[in-house]
Amino acid sequence: MNFFRLITRLLLPLCLAASALTAFYFLINSRTFQFYGGIVHRVETGRKVVALTFDDGPTEFTDELIEVLRSEGVKATFFLIGGLIGQHPEYGRRLAAAGHEIGNHTYSHHRMVFKDAAFIRQEVEKTDSLIRRIAPQNHILFRPPYCKKFIGLPRYLHEHRRETITWDVEPESFADVRSSADRIAAYTAAHTRPGSIILLHGMNPGDGETRKSLKALITRLKKRGYRFVTVSELLHYRKRPNAEAAGASAGSI
Ligand SMILES: [Zn+2]
Repeated sequence: MNFFRLITRLLLPLCLAASALTAFYFLINSRTFQFYGGIVHRVETGRKVVALTFDDGPTEFTDELIEVLRSEGVKATFFLIGGLIGQHPEYGRRLAAAGHEIGNHTYSHHRMVFKDAAFIRQEVEKTDSLIRRIAPQNHILFRPPYCKKFIGLPRYLHEHRRETITWDVEPESFADVRSSADRIAAYTAAHTRPGSIILLHGMNPGDGETRKSLKALITRLKKRGYRFVTVSELLHYRKRPNAEAAGASAGSI
């Protein structure tokens, strides 16, 4: 075998394997695509509405977020971890009592890739039942940890007529942004569009800059004419995207 053929025989499988791995990585992390069911990263609308979402928790930092949101008159959506609701139901109850929407972020915050059907069902259903104990909600939205999903989770959600809620604005994903409250607020204001879903955390000990940024972030968006709604409210705009009358009535949601 000559040298050229040897290299070709080695390189080709390696390149194919690398391409397959890259495609798989983008697929399981995609904010906008999955194999089954609906996935929502934003809503197409001309109205200046936006949904603030907070993942993880509830923890002892939850009250700080509740207070800022209360002072600004903003309702948000919190994707909570079932295990932490079990440990701190009082924080979850306070979120619900303050009028915020509670979503499901699994029970144990595992990456939901290559998990069997029983594990997926337990992660979703156990958390749903904990949420129902703290919040009187009919429909519970779902967001996978780290946005990771492949076949089993989207199929389970689709079979249960539920969508995957992701996001289109994620200031904390950039190290130079998340290290500064000012930059988190500025980045968010610059990248938000009508119908955006903003991903924040804020309830982990290391989320201090996010907590510090919240008031300025809200103020900047209000100055740009944005109104804050929960994700469930935002989804109503999707159903009537072109009707001005719908926009007017949706304004009272
Ligand atoms: Zn998370």
